[in-house]
Amino acid sequence: MIIILCAPSGSGKSTMVRHLLETYPGKYELSISATTRAPRGQEQHGKEYYFISREEFEQHIANQDFIEYEQVYEGLYYGTLKSEIERIRSAGRTIVFDIDVKGGLNLKRIFGGEALAIFVAPPSVEELRRRLEGRGDTSADMIEKRLAKAEIEMADAPYFDHVVVNDDLAKAKKELDKLVQ
Ligand code: ADP
Ligand code: 5GP
Repeated sequence: MIIILCAPSGSGKSTMVRHLLETYPGKYELSISATTRAPRGQEQHGKEYYFISREEFEQHIANQDFIEYEQVYEGLYYGTLKSEIERIRSAGRTIVFDIDVKGGLNLKRIFGGEALAIFVAPPSVEELRRRLEGRGDTSADMIEKRLAKAEIEMADAPYFDHVVVNDDLAKAKKELDKLVQ
């Protein structure tokens, strides 16, 4: 079984993933994506992402090392390495993917019934803006790009197995617990 969590940036996906990892130690493991974007705040290479250069990323594309990849934002690549899936599977853990909507639906197509695809929705675009601004680690320009993308992504929510609205965090966590069990 694999779990795919998708959501517009700022909806609380990372918060949800952290909750799963902390509540069920040893059961789930986050698939660490490769990206060409720069680390934000306290992010570390090999923890939140594998931060690599554009050249390195393109070499991985040429080698067909990715199960899926996207230019999520103009000029910024994000992708899931096949080796990451092997690493987590061989440790006997359930893989959790935190990826964008297009990538998530691609993985759902690949893994079919083995995958539980959950869309984490913000209560509103205004609230999304407040959260992104409140997090304080994203430039104004990137916030606008993320909000524009969020509106498009929200239209794909019906293609997911479940939608969790992250309004009240405690309630959203409970709902997620129920779904993964
Ligand atoms: P994502 O991973 O989807 O980009 P984060 O998990 O980083 O989102 O959440 C974005 C911001 O919103 C963080 O500062 C987080 O603490 C806050 N947040 C998450 N869930 C809620 C919620 N239900 N209510 C209010 N703030 C929230
Ligand atoms: P952020 O820059 O906020 O960490 O992530 C931006 C977006 O890229 C988020 O929607 C995140 O889920 C998505 N993302 C992260 N890793 C991957 C990946 O491997 N593949 C795809 N398609 N999207 C990803």
